[in-house]
Amino acid sequence: GKTDSAPGTLFDKIIAGEIPASVVKEDDHLLAFKDINPMAPAHILVIPKDRSGLTNLRQASAEHTDILGRLLIAAGEIAKDTELGFGDGARIVINDGSDGGQEVMHLHVHVLGGRKLEVRYI
Ligand code: 5GP
Repeated sequence: GKTDSAPGTLFDKIIAGEIPASVVKEDDHLLAFKDINPMAPAHILVIPKDRSGLTNLRQASAEHTDILGRLLIAAGEIAKDTELGFGDGARIVINDGSDGGQEVMHLHVHVLGGRKLEVRYI
């Protein structure tokens, strides 16, 4: 990461443009791109550009209020974008840490939709 000592992940390479990604939204603070292995017809990942200690949500504190708000607002905007394949609703997920199924240690918000998702959490 840019401002912490945790090792960088492949998301840093996506932010740097070193690994190509299908970007759907970008600003100074965040990047949103299509998941390479979609679990639903529409599956977008939203990530902070500056991880700043946000390997996962359990590390979040008041200093992250602004970026966490931005990530959720972006997720909501993405979830209503019919051109991305979203219909009437979406599921917004954060896998946090090993037990939560997190594989990439750079906080990211999954936005899943494009079909009716089952009422389950795994
Ligand atoms: P996690 O399991 O950490 O919550 O989610 C990581 C997500 O990143 C997975 O859904 C996986 O498919 C996605 N992913 C892994 N490598 C790449 C990549 O190189 N490009 C893109 N676009 N997504 C990736």
